[in-house]
Amino acid sequence: MPATFKIRPRMRTLLSPAVTKVELVGVVAWLGVLLVDPVPSINWLNFSITMCLLLVCHFHRATGNFLVWRLLGGVYIVVLAFGFSCVIDSGAELRVFALPLAVIIVVSSAILFITVQDYLLSSALVWILMWSNLDVGMYRGLEVYLVLFCVSSMSIGFTLSFTYLKNMRSVLLIESEFRTLAETDFLTSILNRRAFMESFQQVMAGGGDGYFIMLDIDSFKIKNDQYGHDVGDKILCAMAACLQSTPGSHTVGRIGGEEFGVLLLGDDDSVANEYALRLLEAIRHSVSPPHHYTCSAGIARFSATSDMSAVLKSADCNMYEAKRNGKDRVFRDGKQLMPPTHGTPR
Ligand code: GH3
Ligand code: MG
Ligand code: MG
Repeated sequence: MPATFKIRPRMRTLLSPAVTKVELVGVVAWLGVLLVDPVPSINWLNFSITMCLLLVCHFHRATGNFLVWRLLGGVYIVVLAFGFSCVIDSGAELRVFALPLAVIIVVSSAILFITVQDYLLSSALVWILMWSNLDVGMYRGLEVYLVLFCVSSMSIGFTLSFTYLKNMRSVLLIESEFRTLAETDFLTSILNRRAFMESFQQVMAGGGDGYFIMLDIDSFKIKNDQYGHDVGDKILCAMAACLQSTPGSHTVGRIGGEEFGVLLLGDDDSVANEYALRLLEAIRHSVSPPHHYTCSAGIARFSATSDMSAVLKSADCNMYEAKRNGKDRVFRDGKQLMPPTHGTPR
């Protein structure tokens, strides 16, 4: 996915509060105009426009769909301009307000759109709607000024929108890069301890049941000493790749030097057991001899009400049970899940 698409939800989150406030100001202005309008303003058209504005405001704030959010921004501006244009149409003396109103709407909506195209389209529609209300007779011989107002309001809005969005995009792209760096383990490119624990906390806060598996590479120091740290690093990368390629996990991460964590969702013990055994089998074959390695694992079950540090401790204790009982095996609740696969050098 292109980086600019990734930051769009974030741009929306940042823009949304301002958009909601400006839309409410627009609604208040609209209601104010209805109150002071000398022509009886309670009619089905004004009522429909008011309801439409309120509904658009509500759904614009509530929608989770990015395209709908974009569309509703444009719909709001067009409905508001249409409403004002209807009011102006109802009294010849109000026509004098058409020009300043169009300029105000076009310029003030500049920073409410997430793309320049959306802004240009909506401001062109505003001008088309308001143009019919202009008392051209009043501007006879001065039409060039009208065109100038129209072009300059859109140019100012375009410049504001373009510059504002460009700056916001570059700031958010940098922020997104730093966020990725802060969450990623430099060597293995999977989640680091902090990001893994955050994910764990989020799963628990969301009420998720699941299993935490703690894994520790067996006799890793010997591998480092025998073959060098670069081979040790390759083993760590192979382990991370194995965690990523073994289907069934929710989150995987490197939580220490040669310690890794896996989160599984669900409450089926047999699925969790089968996953852990499958993972250890994949790890045994992830690097060809003589650099092949094994790993010991401890499983702990958790639910939304569990104490996270107790879950970590339980998995850790089980993992050390696996080490004490010969390595290359999985322990859960103090019991081994299956006999170890022998024949793999440690
Ligand atoms: P056990 O089976 O009991 O877990 O033994 P072990 O040798 O794996 O455990 P120990 O804690 O004695 O050694 C862990 C080693 O992991 C020591 C350290 O040099 C190595 N290590 C930690 N981080 C890295 C790393 O980023 N790269 C490399 N190459 N080695 C690392
Ligand atoms: Mg260790
Ligand atoms: Mg180890």
